[in-house]
Amino acid sequence: MNDPDDAGDLERFRLRARRWLQETAPAHGWLRRPGAARRRIAVGDHDAVRRNRACQELLFEAGFAGLSWPAEYGGQGLGLREQIVFNEEARAFDLPLTAFIIGLGMCGPTILAVGTEEQKQRYILPMLRGEEIWCQLFSEPGAGSDVAGLRTRAVRDGDAWVLNGQKVWTSGAHHCEFGIVLARTDPDVPKHKGLTMFVVDLRTPGVSLRPIRQIDGGEHFNEVFFDDVRIPDTDVLGGEGKGWQAATTTLMNERVSLGAVRTLDDVHPSAALIDLARERGLLADESVRQNLVDLWMKETVVGLLGERVTAGIMRGRAPGPEGSITKLVRTGFSTASAELGFRLAGPAAAAWPEGAADGDTWANTLLFVPSLTVAGGTDEVLKNIIGERVLGLDKEPQVDRDVPFRELTGR
Ligand SMILES: Cc1cc2nc3c(=O)[nH]c(=O)nc-3n(C[C@H](O)[C@H](O)[C@H](O)COP(=O)(O)OP(=O)(O)OC[C@H]3O[C@@H](n4cnc5c(N)ncnc54)[C@H](O)[C@@H]3O)c2cc1C
Repeated sequence: MNDPDDAGDLERFRLRARRWLQETAPAHGWLRRPGAARRRIAVGDHDAVRRNRACQELLFEAGFAGLSWPAEYGGQGLGLREQIVFNEEARAFDLPLTAFIIGLGMCGPTILAVGTEEQKQRYILPMLRGEEIWCQLFSEPGAGSDVAGLRTRAVRDGDAWVLNGQKVWTSGAHHCEFGIVLARTDPDVPKHKGLTMFVVDLRTPGVSLRPIRQIDGGEHFNEVFFDDVRIPDTDVLGGEGKGWQAATTTLMNERVSLGAVRTLDDVHPSAALIDLARERGLLADESVRQNLVDLWMKETVVGLLGERVTAGIMRGRAPGPEGSITKLVRTGFSTASAELGFRLAGPAAAAWPEGAADGDTWANTLLFVPSLTVAGGTDEVLKNIIGERVLGLDKEPQVDRDVPFRELTGR
């Protein structure tokens, strides 16, 4: 960063990205409407999926997809700082890319980290071109925070595996071609040791989905059932029995992407709330000003923490437990921002004329933010990780860690 040539390259990259975005965005309807919330893709919204795919394809063709991913698999072979610069420039626009958050934020990095050469050649390029969308199938009805306690079983059968079980809360599965799934392949060893990760093609016979309706009326995640689903041995990801290590790679990337590297795109930045307060004539109110300053401080802290995590990654370190700190702090910021926005917007936040564009922004945001305290690791679990792995405090007592899984469950 301190090298003047490097700084010049990065500035040229920024200008190229800015020019491309300014030229491309108007024609594709990617202009950000002030105050509009970013929306997830509901079941049956084929149009939104098409727009997401088209956006990713245009990014790929223009050389802005997979900026930090290796060129031999279709990436641009640049650094994370180019990705950050692109994200900064893209923040002013409304790029429809939510369908790719999990694939590009978690599944792709996992395949690049632990996949075979054949898997990288097969899966990375179509992901970058927007042709194949991915989801993450870890959580089960009885295994969320304690995901290592999962019960979905995969049993070897010749040169394939047969998968049976149920996943839940699978974001976006309804518009995905592929997923990474964690299953138990050996119940006779302790729970963390008997897991294997697979790539699963969701169009395989025996896979069925049931969307889950949320408090905001949308259906953005699903129950996914596997009934005798055959997965070729070549789709084992990271090695048989190495599922926990592969999953840790995925979850670290998830927390970093949720907390630090991604732009603050789900929440309303303090600048937008200052504008809203000004518009509503509330800036003279002392308590409003105090709340705005408090929010601005939280936002600044999230930004600085994010930069620290990013700097570590750029020095070649794998995303570590500090990703948990940024995710936790960002959740607090998002909640504070949603609550303040709802208050500043006044009655219009709770009731709006039918069909009013973005009328439901604040109501939706307020209903959405509690999910951030759960998705990608709950606040309580993140505090445990920070206590143990950042602060070096004693570990939580774990009575089941060294016991064969079959003895815990009787199966
Ligand atoms: C918006 C959203 C999207 C999601 N998308 C996906 C997805 O795409 N794929 C996927 O696999 N999963 C997904 N999830 C599921 C998510 O990973 C789980 O909900 C999460 O891990 C928590 O698991 P749980 O819901 O089973 O809660 P539980 O683990 O049962 O937790 C219940 C409560 O107990 C607390 N608790 C649990 N263990 C401890 C502990 N050791 N110490 C202190 N407190 C504890 C928790 O903090 C929580 O308050 C998503 C969730 C949300 C909200």
